[in-house]
Amino acid sequence: AKAKFGTGVCFYESSMNAAARRRNVIAAGLRQALASNEFSLVYQVLTDLPSGQPIGYEALLRWEHPTEGHVSPAEFIPIAESTGDILGIGEWVLREACTTAAGWPEPYRIAVNLSGVQIYQSAIDQLIAKVLHATGLPADRLELEITETAIIEDKTVALDMLRRIKALGVTIAIDDFGTGHSSLGTLHAFPIDKIKIDRSFLLDAINNAQAQAIIRTVVALGQSLDIPILAEGVETPDQAEMLQRLGCSQVQGYYFGRPGPPPPPGTRLPTIVGQSRPV
Ligand code: C2E
Ligand code: CA
Ligand code: CA
Ligand code: CA
Repeated sequence: AKAKFGTGVCFYESSMNAAARRRNVIAAGLRQALASNEFSLVYQVLTDLPSGQPIGYEALLRWEHPTEGHVSPAEFIPIAESTGDILGIGEWVLREACTTAAGWPEPYRIAVNLSGVQIYQSAIDQLIAKVLHATGLPADRLELEITETAIIEDKTVALDMLRRIKALGVTIAIDDFGTGHSSLGTLHAFPIDKIKIDRSFLLDAINNAQAQAIIRTVVALGQSLDIPILAEGVETPDQAEMLQRLGCSQVQGYYFGRPGPPPPPGTRLPTIVGQSRPV
C-alpha cells in the first residue's frame, strides 16, 4: 500500500502497523461508500420452531470496497461507529430494508440491526416513524435488533429511547444475548419482545452439557418474560433438533438459509406439510 495524500488520510507507512493502516483505509472508504452506492443488503430467514415456517428476515449489511473488495460488517461497523458514519449508513439500511419488506406478504417481518450510536446520538424514533410513513410498511412488521451490550451502556437513556420506539408499534429484540452481562432486573424493566442467543453458546452445545444448560436457562428466562427465544448460528440438523428439544421457539442460521437476496414482492408463504401450529 502507498501512503495516501489528498484524501484526508496522510501518514508515513513505516510508522504504522498493518492494523492501523487497514483501519485508515476503511475509515476513508466509509466516507465515500454511501454516495458511491457501495452498500447492499442481504436477507437471512428467521424460522419458527417446531413448525419450520419462515416468519421473517434479518437484513444484513454488505460493503464492496472499490479496492479492498468485500469488507465484513464485523470489521467496518465498529469503525463507522467511532467516526459517526454509522448514522448515515444506519439510516440507509433502515430505508432500504423497509422499502423491500413493504412488498412482502402479510406475515413476513423484517429485522433491522440498530447500533448503540443510533440509540444514544440520534432521534432514532423520529427517523423510524418517518421511514415507516414513507415506505408504507406497517409498524408491527418491523423488528429492531439492539445488542445487549448497547442497551446496558446507559440504561436510563436506553430505556427512554426503547419506550419511544415501542410506542411506534415496532418490536425490539435483544441481540447477541449472553455476551453483555445484563441483570434480570434490566431485562424485566426493558420493553423487550425477543431474545436472540449469541451464536457462541451454540458452538459446543451438542456435546457439552454445560452449554446446553445455559441455553435451557435462557429459554426459561424467555418463558418467565413471556417472549420467544431465537438461537443464532444454527448450522446442522442436530443443532436444530437439540434447540427444539430445549424449547427454543425460533432459529436462524445456515442450516435454515444463508443470507441472500430478499424474497420477491408478493411471495407466497410455503405450505409446510405436517405443520404443528400456525404462525
Ligand atoms: P449479528 O447481528 O449477530 O448477525 C448475525 C451474523 O451471523 C451475520 O454475520 C450472519 O451472516 C452470521 N450468520 C448467520 N447464520 C450463521 C451460521 O449458521 N453460522 C455462522 N458462522 N454465521 C452465521 P454478518 O452479516 O457478517 O454480520 C456481522 C455483524 O455485523 C452482525 O452480527 C451485526 O452485529 C453487524 N451488522 C450487520 N449488518 C448491520 C447493520 O445493518 N447495522 C448494524 N448496526 N450492524 C450490522
Ligand atoms: Ca442481528
Ligand atoms: Ca446476533
Ligand atoms: Ca452475534
